[in-house]
Amino acid sequence: MSESIQFKTTQPHMLKTNKEYASQTLMGGLSGFESPIGLDRRDRIRALKSGDIGFVHSWDINTSVDGPGTRMTVFMSGCPLRCQYCQNPDTWKMRDGKPVYFDAMVKKIERYKELFKATGGGITFSGGESMMQPAFVSRVFRATKEMGVHTCLDTSGFLGANYTDEQLDDIDLCLLDVKSGDEATYKKVTGGILQPTIDFGRRLADHNVKIWVRFVLVPGLTDSEENVENVARICESFGDAVEHVDVLGFHQLGRPKWHELRIPYPLEDAKGPSAKLRQRVVKQFEDHGLTVY
Ligand code: SF4
Repeated sequence: MSESIQFKTTQPHMLKTNKEYASQTLMGGLSGFESPIGLDRRDRIRALKSGDIGFVHSWDINTSVDGPGTRMTVFMSGCPLRCQYCQNPDTWKMRDGKPVYFDAMVKKIERYKELFKATGGGITFSGGESMMQPAFVSRVFRATKEMGVHTCLDTSGFLGANYTDEQLDDIDLCLLDVKSGDEATYKKVTGGILQPTIDFGRRLADHNVKIWVRFVLVPGLTDSEENVENVARICESFGDAVEHVDVLGFHQLGRPKWHELRIPYPLEDAKGPSAKLRQRVVKQFEDHGLTVY
């Protein structure tokens, strides 16, 4: 951390008296992180820019969900998109996350590094959209690579321009959400624009970063033959970088969060895809020479 910034810091015993902290388990939530408090706006902006702190929603340890092996997945706060099928609308606002020191994060990864190495796992940054905090994420990735541990970025690619080419070199794998295949559908699904995802995917491929594409299949929203065809063409354009495509069937597990936050939920009555629809979509991707999970 830069010497000029002095943060007040909560001590572990203080955190334990906090009701929210007490409800978190040892394996996840925000336990074990020293969390700076009392930052004024100017300090917060400086620390974000330098990557001295990151705003974190939560973290967990999982196996073969967000990349290979046993992984620590860190869910960063803040997202510029508003996907209709978002399962984590509680991560949308960066200010709702907890500030976590860069050093605390690196120490946490250190503790698990032998486990990560033994299982071929590592660290995954997810969200929200972790590319909203490029300085913090890229510094942690650098430190992780120095430990010889695998790194993975789970992103929509919407903010890909926030990453320099040098920062890309510290990413081993990208879980890239291609949420739709044309601008009009992408806008409807996410509120954002598609081109940055395509541009980012091409940069990843140029830097030999492996890509696992994720596509969420929502009947009536993303399932038209034309949309799937366009997504498949985009994947194809990333060439050999794409190891496989995950076709993720929509489900309603995120609905309670929308209700809790009192945000109008556009997919209130939507259903998951039938086996037949899934089959058709998988075949469309396979016809483009892509491996589908
Ligand atoms: S990009 Fe992810 S976190 Fe952001 S709105 Fe979409 S699904 Fe939710």
